[in-house]
Amino acid sequence: MDNGTHYRTCHLCEAMCGVAIEVTNGQISSIKGDEDDPLSQGYICPKAVALQDLHNDPDRLRKPVRRTDTGWQEMEWDEAFDLVAHKLHQTRTEFGRNSIGVYLGNPNVHNHGSLVATLPFLRAIGSQNRFSATSNDQLPHMLASWRCSGIKSCSRFRISTTPTC
Ligand code: SF4
Repeated sequence: MDNGTHYRTCHLCEAMCGVAIEVTNGQISSIKGDEDDPLSQGYICPKAVALQDLHNDPDRLRKPVRRTDTGWQEMEWDEAFDLVAHKLHQTRTEFGRNSIGVYLGNPNVHNHGSLVATLPFLRAIGSQNRFSATSNDQLPHMLASWRCSGIKSCSRFRISTTPTC
């Protein structure tokens, strides 16, 4: 990594705060909020400072991996894309479009390339099975709220003196 200040966007959540990353002797020496960022204006939360730990984590994946009988095995990107395309096509052909499930969430919804490519990709797959943080943890709350109190929205949940469940 080149020495100097690198201006980037924190991809950990939808706030997308601007960060200024100082690199000295090829290592990250500080991470601060970018005061010139028009949205965050210098604000960052503690998670952005921890980006350094993610970057330096010895267990961070640096290449695609696949599971084999003898454990995880690194592979090249071209090989990984070919394998995924082959398996998706094979699964869709054999079991139908809804046999493929898709999960969308952080950080792929904050990545420009992903934002541009995801919708056409999902349309091409044609599956109705799409999952997200909402479908995994918010919708069950809303269902429980509705079944318990007759109120469909968590944000309008109110305490009932005569609970029904
Ligand atoms: S700095 Fe914190 S609030 Fe801002 S995008 Fe990163 S995780 Fe989200």
